[in-house]
Amino acid sequence: MKSHQERMVKKKAVIADKIAKATQERGVVILLKGNGKGKSSSAFGTMARSVGHGKRCAVVQFIKGRVQTGEHMLFKDHPQIDWHVMGQGFTWETQDRDKDIEAAQKAWGIAEQLLQDPSYEMLVFDEMSYMFKYHYLDVAPVIEALRNRPKDQSVIITGRAMPVELEEVADTISNIKDERHAFRLGVKAQAGIEF
Ligand code: ATP
Ligand code: MG
Repeated sequence: MKSHQERMVKKKAVIADKIAKATQERGVVILLKGNGKGKSSSAFGTMARSVGHGKRCAVVQFIKGRVQTGEHMLFKDHPQIDWHVMGQGFTWETQDRDKDIEAAQKAWGIAEQLLQDPSYEMLVFDEMSYMFKYHYLDVAPVIEALRNRPKDQSVIITGRAMPVELEEVADTISNIKDERHAFRLGVKAQAGIEF
């Protein structure tokens, strides 16, 4: 049996080899999907990292929640962040499809401009997946714009189910699994945890 030290030496060499092979410098497309909790909060946490490094960022929130989120209150006036909430748009309560589509198109118009502006190094398109699920937006122009975005720009897209076409352009995909959620134990949604 190999000693711990021998195994660690081997492991170190394997990792060093992988690091040596990762030489590209460019922005990435990150998809955060799945039914577990932690997609939007991870996206905004990553954006906070970028802000800390002095980068200019923008958020397009494709679903307007019922309540003000902590992230919105913390970041909305930050000089490095532009925060767009989809106007009158889609909430879980709306029933007016035409109005939702109009709002989705408008939000996409903003997102599309951001995808052409190299001064933004990080974009977060929160809950965008629902726009495809309900056929409020076509996925093809989104793919096109992602492919043609500035080289150093990174984009994070969140939502429970991602269209496969979007997965094809992604560099990183994390599928957050729901193993347990306090809601099902009867715990009420709370400020600072859920929103
Ligand atoms: P978060 O914003 O906390 O990172 P999320 O973006 O992964 O969550 P969404 O699908 O956008 O999750 O749902 C947002 C809200 O629903 C949050 O309040 C979150 O705590 C809650 N939530 C997420 N996953 C579950 C779940 N599996 N069961 C019940 N509630 C959930
Ligand atoms: Mg979310």
